[in-house]
Amino acid sequence: MKLERRHLCLYPSLGGSVAQYKRKLALEKGALLLNTICFDADDTLWQNERFFKLNQDRFAQLLSDVAEPAHLAENLLAAERRNIEHYGYGVKGFTLSMIETALQMTDNRVSGQIIAEIIAIGREMHNHPVELLPGAKDAIQTLSSDFQLLLITKGDLFHQERKLAQSGLGELFDGVEIVSEKHAELYRDIFSGRGIIPATAAMVGNSLKSDVNPAIEAGGWGVYVPSDLTWELEVADAPSRHPRYRKIRSLAALPKLVETICRNI
Ligand SMILES: [Mg+2]
Repeated sequence: MKLERRHLCLYPSLGGSVAQYKRKLALEKGALLLNTICFDADDTLWQNERFFKLNQDRFAQLLSDVAEPAHLAENLLAAERRNIEHYGYGVKGFTLSMIETALQMTDNRVSGQIIAEIIAIGREMHNHPVELLPGAKDAIQTLSSDFQLLLITKGDLFHQERKLAQSGLGELFDGVEIVSEKHAELYRDIFSGRGIIPATAAMVGNSLKSDVNPAIEAGGWGVYVPSDLTWELEVADAPSRHPRYRKIRSLAALPKLVETICRNI
């Protein structure tokens, strides 16, 4: 059957979506359509950085007698930066960095009571219920019927698995990759390992440094969804002029964006 433009109007009445029809049309033309949407997790699907900042304030309170909050924050960030290569990303590394900073700020004289409270902060962060971001659930549900969905996240393996289970979204993903670092080589490996042509994949996330820029460098699309708070170590410049770069205000806008990309390929 030769597909013509007028079928765009007819197809939805036959039970499919315009997006499905256009995908079929483009596939018949041999175009490289998007077929895989990859998602970051922390601060893309659910709140994360907000809890880190709140608990950093509690940490500052604990040590208010020995250091100014700004000075303490500076030293904590330096400890986190140093420790990433040892402990990776996530709450465990953050907790150890708080302990290290407390020791450093007090010439190793910090009390056992304060160390116990820092450990309690870390445990509370691990146990905090998942709070999905606006539009996340609907976007995942909508896209899951037409696309392969992957979750690609850094952080503690155990913690991220538990957050995904709690989120109720786990069943909608076709694959989950919990990795130690996100760079272009990592995305290339994931794409090739799963038989995905990079140009048919989009990575959606709140970090230009870890989600958007390396996915574009690996040959895929990068969709930036800025979050209210961004960890200092995730700041990077936006590739604003790149043809495979897009920016949206929330995940609620993602299904429409994906449809627009498919339409214009
Ligand atoms: Mg993130």
